[in-house]
Amino acid sequence: MKLWFLTGSQGLYGEDTLRQVAEQSQRIAEELGASLPFELVWKPVLTDAAAIRRLCLEANADDECGGLIAWMHTFSPAKMWIAGLDALRKPLLHLHTQANRELPWDTIDMDFMNLNQAAHGDREFGYVQSRLGVARKTVAGHVSDPAVAARVATWARAAAGRAEVGSLRLARFGDNMRDVAVTEGDKVEAQLRFGVSVNTYGVNDLVEAVDAASDADVSALVKEYEDLYEVASELRAGGERHDSLRYAARIELGLRGFLEAGGFRAFTTNFEDLGGLRQLPGLAVQRLMADGYGFGGEGDWKTSVLLRTLKVMSAGLPGGTSFMEDYTYHLTPGEELILGAHMLEVCPTIAGGTPSCEIHPLGIGNREDPVRLVFDARPGAAVVVGLADMGERFRLVANEIDVVAPLEPLPSLPVARAVWRPRPDLRTSAESWLTAGAPHHTVLSAAVGAEELTDFADMLGVELLVIDADTTSRQFAKELRWNQAYYRLAQGF
Ligand code: MN
Repeated sequence: MKLWFLTGSQGLYGEDTLRQVAEQSQRIAEELGASLPFELVWKPVLTDAAAIRRLCLEANADDECGGLIAWMHTFSPAKMWIAGLDALRKPLLHLHTQANRELPWDTIDMDFMNLNQAAHGDREFGYVQSRLGVARKTVAGHVSDPAVAARVATWARAAAGRAEVGSLRLARFGDNMRDVAVTEGDKVEAQLRFGVSVNTYGVNDLVEAVDAASDADVSALVKEYEDLYEVASELRAGGERHDSLRYAARIELGLRGFLEAGGFRAFTTNFEDLGGLRQLPGLAVQRLMADGYGFGGEGDWKTSVLLRTLKVMSAGLPGGTSFMEDYTYHLTPGEELILGAHMLEVCPTIAGGTPSCEIHPLGIGNREDPVRLVFDARPGAAVVVGLADMGERFRLVANEIDVVAPLEPLPSLPVARAVWRPRPDLRTSAESWLTAGAPHHTVLSAAVGAEELTDFADMLGVELLVIDADTTSRQFAKELRWNQAYYRLAQGF
């Protein structure tokens, strides 16, 4: 993905000024680009309506262009931006900056004033964007300020997520878990709103791929497991359950091959629909998540979409991102905690140490005992986010949390898990989450936070509710009511 840097000006002050505008904007773009996780492409200064419209149409048509950053260097009469902004379908960031950081108090004259007038040029641009109802992020300050560059980088990551979800293909093996409501959703609306294409495959299509994996490939992968993880002795070569580890490797090879062949970057499974699979996929799902694939259990394609999107947004950042489920509570007053996990499928990118590879019985799924990675999540700040289909629209809900070490070891719990303290406290968090109708399946990320999610939701026009240290139940209930009215009005008839 690339981002484009646009500069607005006009011919009023002559060629000399425009040359300076071009020089300065190239310098600003260079300085900003150096701190962004994506290439920033400088575009020649824009001074008329036809060129602006053409550029916006080019941005729409360019699959590599993930978004535009626009700065009105001098004074760009904003009527010339109407046709272009009206046609624009890519994310937009309005950068309100200035080439000079310091005012040259003793030498400032009218030439300097005319050249450096983003202070009102950008206000003109802000007006026309608001008048047209253009969604954008506005960032003000000098680009040498790390906080400015960081906020632009956050937006850029959201734009990468937006680009990913716009072309994402998801494979479901089996449908939704029977009788479960929140994992259902409108796939046609999702494709219109987000762009993602969600399609179901018979699980025996996957079984064929699993059975077709070669013994040599299985052996090589088992060797990789033994190098990477603390593999239980019963699973190691020569161990009495080694065959189960080989079958887990076989599932990974088949699943990975199926997804690669179909161009899928996200998938779901359903333990009620395992066909000829001998184990519920555990280890394979965990490793595919670690490689960036989206996943949702029980046919939960919405959480799978969200996980893949956050994986792309967080590329290169420290802290992992995983499928998660609110499982059980520690309700001692004053030290309330949530224990999150899943039957098997937690991503090892959030692990605090080397995962151990183990095999244990699983009552659910009615198959052989599945192999899985077991670990505790790394302590630190993180966010959990869920996506619900409210019938007339999608709703994202995020909760800022602090992952903590388990209060005591969990020697009898045979799955990977995360223990966290939700902000502001468990009561407010849980009451707000339930009042919002947010799901039990989430994505837990220690790599991206509320600002990336806010930018992402704004780009798509999707509701996002954030539960953080400042949330009160009363204010949150009001926000829900206001949002209900706003989103109904905003989508029209
Ligand atoms: Mn589940």
